[in-house]
Amino acid sequence: MSKVALITGASRGIGAATARLLAQQGYRLCLNYLREAARAEALAEELSARGAEILTVQADLAEESEVVRLFQTLDRRFGSLDALVNNAGILLPQSRVEDLDAARINRLLTTNVTSQFLCCREAVRRMSHRHGGRGGAIVNVSSAAARLGSPHEYVDYAASKGAIDTLTRGLALEVAGEGIRVNCVRPGFIHTEMHGDGGEPGRVARLAPQLPMGRGGEPVEVAAAIRWLLGDEASYVTGAFIDLAGGR
Ligand code: NAD
Repeated sequence: MSKVALITGASRGIGAATARLLAQQGYRLCLNYLREAARAEALAEELSARGAEILTVQADLAEESEVVRLFQTLDRRFGSLDALVNNAGILLPQSRVEDLDAARINRLLTTNVTSQFLCCREAVRRMSHRHGGRGGAIVNVSSAAARLGSPHEYVDYAASKGAIDTLTRGLALEVAGEGIRVNCVRPGFIHTEMHGDGGEPGRVARLAPQLPMGRGGEPVEVAAAIRWLLGDEASYVTGAFIDLAGGR
């Protein structure tokens, strides 16, 4: 039977690019989305037309009960889980730290950090040899922001991704002997719609000339690293980070 992968926040951007690459590899896919049902269904139709088996599940991963429901829905359809791509995340409008309030900080941390912890928890319960699982692989999507700090723009977002780096390292060591590999990608400036949510749709184009490679990245360039980390070619890689930031 082919492997089963869950991709969170899969209706667009890096998540959708990853879905396309994993479908090509023969994975059966569970695609989670928050709001954009029409885009998620269009992606599912595109991939199904090429022979992939796809399940789409709406769930707000900022809610613990929704995370649990997502995994229970996946269980009913596929019965097992081999790969988790912890991709869902948000960016809020550009702001200095002195202008942040608790509501915004907590919203960002709940969505970007708590949800990834909870998805890891559910995946480990299904994959770990301790629980009778057959092992698996997790890729967390962090950001170059974790290293750079994103001053004047998104220090809260950068800090949330710093937490993902620590989650990756700690969990990788915790489950290394239980058949689960946990790795991380840290994209830099990638052409997706997320920058519009931060208030500047043209942000990547503005910053591209300052990047060592002189251009922003494409979602598929991140997806290719995720695919490799999930696959058997990366069988001895855990607790590792791949920076996809054009040299930044
Ligand atoms: P995107 O906005 O297209 O994708 C993020 C997805 O997460 C969206 O589909 C969104 O609906 C979903 N999402 C948000 N909150 C959710 C929730 N509560 N429950 C379920 N889904 C939710 O942007 P993207 O660039 O493709 O981002 C994907 C990942 O890559 C994110 O974790 C982001 O932080 C990270 N990243 C992006 C860049 C970049 O330059 N685009 C750089 C570094 C890291």
